[in-house]
Amino acid sequence: MQLLLGFILALIIAFLAYKARSLNTSGAVAAAVTGTIIFGIGGLSWAVLLLTFFITSSALSRAFKKRKRGLDEKFSKGHERDAGQVLANGGLATLFAALGFFFPQQPWTWIGFAASLAAVNADTWATELGVLNPHPPRLITDLRKTVEKGTSGGISLFGTLASLTGSGLIALLASLLTGNWFLLPLVTIAGLAGSLFDSFLGATVQAMYYCPTDKKETEKHPLHSCGTPTVHVRGWKWMTNDWVNFLCGTAGVLVALMIYVI
Ligand SMILES: [Zn+2]
Repeated sequence: MQLLLGFILALIIAFLAYKARSLNTSGAVAAAVTGTIIFGIGGLSWAVLLLTFFITSSALSRAFKKRKRGLDEKFSKGHERDAGQVLANGGLATLFAALGFFFPQQPWTWIGFAASLAAVNADTWATELGVLNPHPPRLITDLRKTVEKGTSGGISLFGTLASLTGSGLIALLASLLTGNWFLLPLVTIAGLAGSLFDSFLGATVQAMYYCPTDKKETEKHPLHSCGTPTVHVRGWKWMTNDWVNFLCGTAGVLVALMIYVI
C-alpha cells in the first residue's frame, strides 16, 4: 500500500516538475523512479527530506534570475534537470532508502540518506546563492587566487555560509523527524564536508573546457551556449559535473558514517 502511494506521489511531483520545466523528460522519469523508492520504502519522514532538497534547490535555481544572468553559460547544464543530474543528486539517497528495506530500523540507513541529501543541498545552495556575492570567490586549492564568479572550485565565506545553511536545514529536519539531536551537528558537518569536496574536485580534476569565441572557461561540451565547439583545457574528461555531484554526496555519506561509528 505504501509503495503504491509512494508511486502515485512520485508521479504527481515528477509531472508537476516537468510542467514547471524543472525537469526534462528523462529527468522526470528518473525522479518518478527514485521518488517511488524513497517515498514507498522510506515513508513520510524520508519524503519530507527529499522534497525539502528538491523544492528548495529548484526554487533557488530560479530565484534572482536577473542577478545571475550571464552565469548560466558557465555551467554545463541549464535549469531543466535531466536523468544524469537527478541520479547524481538523488541516486545515493535512493540506495539508502532501498537498503532501509533490507535493514529496517537501522539508524545508519537514515544517517546515510540524510547526509547524502545534506551534501547535495549544501552544494546547490552554495552554487545558487554564492554567485550573488559581490566579491569574487577564491580558489579552494590556492586561497590567494581569486577566480571569476561561478567558476567550479571557487569558494567564498558567503558561499560557505549558504552551504552551511543548506546542510543545516536538512540536518535539522533529520533530527526533528527522529528526535535524535546528535544528528544535527553530525549531518551538518557531513553535508558541509561533501560540498567542500565538490569544490576541491572542481578546482582539480573536473573536466573544463574553453570557448574560443567568448574566450571563457566553461563546463559545457561539446558545444558552448553560443554554438561554438569547446576545447578541453583541464581535468579528466570523464569527470563531468554529474560525477562531481555524485562524489559530493559520497563524501558526505562517508564523513557522516565515520562520525557515527566513532
Ligand atoms: Zn561561447
